[in-house]
Amino acid sequence: MLHICNSFAMFNVLIPQKMIKIMNVPEQYLQSAINAVSEACRATRAVQLELDSIRQMTKDDRSPVTVADFAAQAIVCQRLSDDLGRLDMVGEESAAELRDGDKESLRTAVAQTVQKYRNDLTTEDVLNAIDLGNHDASESRYWTLDPIDGTKGFLRGGQYAVSLALIDRGEVVLGVLGCPNMSADFSQAFDQPAASGCLFYATQGSGSWYLPENDTQAKPLKISASEDVDLGALRVCESVESGHSKQDDTAKILQHLKATSAPARLDSQCKYAVVGRGQADAYLRLPTRAGYVEKIWDHAAGKLIAEQAGAIVSDIFGKPLDFSTGATLDSNKGVVCTAAAIHADIIEAIKTLGIA
Ligand code: AMP
Ligand code: MG
Repeated sequence: MLHICNSFAMFNVLIPQKMIKIMNVPEQYLQSAINAVSEACRATRAVQLELDSIRQMTKDDRSPVTVADFAAQAIVCQRLSDDLGRLDMVGEESAAELRDGDKESLRTAVAQTVQKYRNDLTTEDVLNAIDLGNHDASESRYWTLDPIDGTKGFLRGGQYAVSLALIDRGEVVLGVLGCPNMSADFSQAFDQPAASGCLFYATQGSGSWYLPENDTQAKPLKISASEDVDLGALRVCESVESGHSKQDDTAKILQHLKATSAPARLDSQCKYAVVGRGQADAYLRLPTRAGYVEKIWDHAAGKLIAEQAGAIVSDIFGKPLDFSTGATLDSNKGVVCTAAAIHADIIEAIKTLGIA
């Protein structure tokens, strides 16, 4: 049984200066999204176990993540479209590159990966399914997908996520995060890959839940962010990649707050889930360069899951993430996701230190 309101009714959400009508997510949407992400996780896990044979087939070192990326997008888009009909999807990938004549070995590897789970699809069907993700965020309601968030984590055998969200009139109303290498056992270190993973999900107003990533029939369990946080023992997580978050600034914030522990580093939106389930008190994503604008598929699902678990998510100035500006978060800079009790302290530290 999924914990969700089973109706199409609308409810009011108050956001500064305006009141908008947001859809109440139908149970069928959530069920289909969970199944889609779980199927995609099965495929990405299989690719991770076959890295060497895929590299040999395509003669390209990075190709396993490319194969997993395309295959996961095809599987998610096809499942949603089969279950729900018309699909407006802002996906990270497009099949244009795969259609090139000289990409035959990559195209074949992608098609074969998908066909292990969907033997009803031809190679052309697989390419068309990937291209279902070509929506430009112009509708009032659309899905967004990062088929492999944390590609570097995927390649190094660390954390990565299949991230799917539904955005309605600028609000994220549904989020599903498949985290194939994140243990369901909260006592396990989250920066090390686990043998089996978790699938987190949330809808507006219904809390955040998790399941074993490979058993969508299991009883979902609720997650909650930390309530009492000792700033001196603050547990922060951040990107492994120093090019994605300014790690020196995280160190300055910790020093300013007199926190003694070192940040934990992991790839992907798994960081939102780690805060959502209380294993870290904060996820900081601090700008590394002036011109970078965050992509909606890198944040939509994770943000809702963390918020519904009781965390606060904003940019580095304390402004809520604004999903009404298309495929990129044009009105925001960086991300600060923390247990509610310490959000103001972190924003204050950022301001005092002049981080921007
Ligand atoms: P992470 O796993 O937290 O390192 O984040 C991975 C995501 O970082 C990728 O999906 C990219 O879209 C995104 N990314 C790429 N360049 C930057 C950048 N300069 N700043 C922030 N994020 C970036
Ligand atoms: Mg990404």
